[in-house]
Amino acid sequence: MSVHSCVFCKIIQGELPSSIVHENEHVIAFLDINPINPGHVLIVPKQHYGSLKEVPTETAMQLFKVVLDVEKAVWVADGVRCEGTNLLQNNGKSAWQDVFHVHFHVIPRYKGDNFKIKIEAGKPSREELDTMASHIRDSI
Ligand code: 5GP
Ligand code: ZN
Repeated sequence: MSVHSCVFCKIIQGELPSSIVHENEHVIAFLDINPINPGHVLIVPKQHYGSLKEVPTETAMQLFKVVLDVEKAVWVADGVRCEGTNLLQNNGKSAWQDVFHVHFHVIPRYKGDNFKIKIEAGKPSREELDTMASHIRDSI
């Protein structure tokens, strides 16, 4: 996806409306148009990067600082029911990324809400875990 057709770039340029909760030189945070729960915020770097692995470390730190500020805010903001939060960050179609401009979700949660993730976790042996750990260690 090019910068020109990117929906978040259009929001950043002011070409599409958004409900902004925070903005600085590098980062913008606005409400998700289809919130999982009320107060669901997206935190987005103003520079276009497709996914997390493309983001320079310094930008990622600026981004995460705003994620932390927003996460604290939703616990206490009027009108937000927040008994917990999920931070969600999707990369790639297989991982549910729909908008290919990197972003974090801050999602307020409460008991009995409608957010469901079905998990069927594996049960690898210690040997399999150790082998996998060494593969990833070698890739860092
Ligand atoms: P992803 O699946 O890529 O992690 O999440 C993309 C998110 O962007 C979705 O939750 C979706 O509701 C939100 N979204 C898509 N288009 C717009 C838009 O035009 N404005 C806003 N505020 N959110 C959007
Ligand atoms: Zn973009």
